[in-house]
Amino acid sequence: MSNISNAIYGFTIGDAFGVPVEFLERDTYQIEEMIGYGSWDVPAATWSDDSAMMFITMNHLINEDNLNQLKKAFCDWAYRGYWTFNDEPAFDVGITIREVINRWERIGLHELAKSDEFSNGNGALMRILPISLWAYGKKIQGEELFLFVKEYAELTHGHIRSTLCCYHYTLVVHQLLEGSSIADSIRYANEALTKMLRQFPGEAQYFERLFIIGDFPRDDIASSGYVIDTLEAVYWSLLNSSNYYEAIHKAVHLGKDTDTIGALTGGLAGLAYDTLNIPNHWLNMLPKQSEIQELICKFEKVLK
Ligand SMILES: [Mg+2]
Repeated sequence: MSNISNAIYGFTIGDAFGVPVEFLERDTYQIEEMIGYGSWDVPAATWSDDSAMMFITMNHLINEDNLNQLKKAFCDWAYRGYWTFNDEPAFDVGITIREVINRWERIGLHELAKSDEFSNGNGALMRILPISLWAYGKKIQGEELFLFVKEYAELTHGHIRSTLCCYHYTLVVHQLLEGSSIADSIRYANEALTKMLRQFPGEAQYFERLFIIGDFPRDDIASSGYVIDTLEAVYWSLLNSSNYYEAIHKAVHLGKDTDTIGALTGGLAGLAYDTLNIPNHWLNMLPKQSEIQELICKFEKVLK
């Protein structure tokens, strides 16, 4: 598999592995297999909003659609089954995303996402991977990269903290693509974000833990849907693992927002390790596997 293919499948598998145990408390379950009908009434290996919004964004980038077309595509996903696993309306739209999609649908696509401090769920972060890959392929760097990431993050999450988390994740993606280790990639992103935080001094305190997250014991890792908690859980899982499966297994066993944390961990682990060391049948279990494969091929082509 190529880097890009590994990242997209790594993300999708991490999502699907975490779906059946989403919301559960830590250490109340143990899974080694793709299972169905846990937290959601869906079959084994069902991927969720995280992967769906990633696929839709990939399609948007491939076609060079404008942002209104992307917003419309998200409405079609939530209400009309566009890029859902079963062509039915999405089964799991997050609160902040649901709220803005509702307004796009009822009022108009010019409606802006909420930007208060309490609207900082991980819904922008969960769909940023294709943006990060695209920016690397198109050599978008520095301040331009920050603004590019911000434009996409703000579609659903208007607060700067969400953008800063998306920017950090993007920098890690870029360093992994450069061939750096996970630890070095995160260190690089920490340094770049520290510089960026000078423009947003009020936000610096929220990132202090993130910069040393690998050293924390598991008990100190929150794994909620709050964007900072999610990013901390993702990097903690990666920094305390030495292969793909171990990383997503650790991520999904932290509890609470297991699918998004599994997905974001899996995307980076897919880039960091040459092989997705999972049971062979897992990839074939994914709904719409052939459509996903076709989408990845198109995405790779436009990035060459
Ligand atoms: Mg999800």
